[in-house]
Amino acid sequence: GLMGAALALSGCGSDDGGSASEGGESAAAEGKVGVILPDTESSVRWESADRPALEAAFEAAGVEYDIQNAEGDVERMTQIADTMIGNGVTVLAIVNLDSESGAAIQEKAASSGVATIDYDRLTLGGTAEYYVSFDNVVVGELQGQGLADCLGEEDANIVYLNGSPTDNNATLFAEGAHSVLDGMGNYSVVGEQAVPEWDNEEAATIFQQLYTAADGDVDGVLAANDGLGGAAISILEGAGLAGKVPVTGQDATVEGLQNILAGTQCMTVYKSATLEAGALADTAIALVNGEEAETTGTTKDSESGREVPSILLEPQSITLDTVGDVIADGGQSAADVCAGEF
Ligand code: BGC
Repeated sequence: GLMGAALALSGCGSDDGGSASEGGESAAAEGKVGVILPDTESSVRWESADRPALEAAFEAAGVEYDIQNAEGDVERMTQIADTMIGNGVTVLAIVNLDSESGAAIQEKAASSGVATIDYDRLTLGGTAEYYVSFDNVVVGELQGQGLADCLGEEDANIVYLNGSPTDNNATLFAEGAHSVLDGMGNYSVVGEQAVPEWDNEEAATIFQQLYTAADGDVDGVLAANDGLGGAAISILEGAGLAGKVPVTGQDATVEGLQNILAGTQCMTVYKSATLEAGALADTAIALVNGEEAETTGTTKDSESGREVPSILLEPQSITLDTVGDVIADGGQSAADVCAGEF
């Protein structure tokens, strides 16, 4: 039937692409890299995608590493950083929980002679030597374009569920999405709110409020990641509108891909953890060896004006037709994605 065709098209029923891994060509580096991930709640990506990709990248490079998770707690991240610095890491990479605490950690590291890298999120007012991420304005543009493709050319009311107000990426995602959707002329913003700490439960409450305030007259939802999208979908389900009101996402999580296959989510944005972790490992190893890392350009810190040497990767828009691309790239396994009920 239709469903089976969609699954076959999307990669369910075909072989798992397996995970891509780069051959370990680099020589073992002297030094140790510490990485602090932000939490386990704002997105499943940090533990399910980033951690294994980082482990694989550091192991392939033969460099010692220590990966910890701050569990959404600023004090905890600060403590982990202190311990890592005390244990003699040469390079410290963080995904900050907010720029202020991130900058304080980086300052402390610098005063101990430890080089720092911003992983995924730029620390505004920070002192990181490098910034490794995706082009996050493009992520927002892909979300805006994806939603527009799902909505079509008719007039439509859009609600925005933005990411955490303390995450510079969330600002860039919203900026990119607005730049596409605002320019089209046929869309109206009928609600927009940032979700503190990207909290999915709070996102459902916020979306319910925005939806009610708009008298239910909502035609599309620009949700900044798959978790926020899932929250909006759960409320739309209650209103009998899931699958009728397109919702965006990001991270190509199992949940997000399954929602796309089920027809309740319009698109997601795939950002290969293998590529991002590989770029972090390359950058960290350059720092360990006292060499300059390869960059794609610089990113302006909007707070300090500093041009931060950056490695920005290309994000990829994923729709029903291309779910299989994520599986073929090793971003998720077919077994996990196809285990859902559609
Ligand atoms: C990342 C997203 C992630 C979000 C919540 C952002 O900074 O770029 O991939 O979904 O944080 O963790």
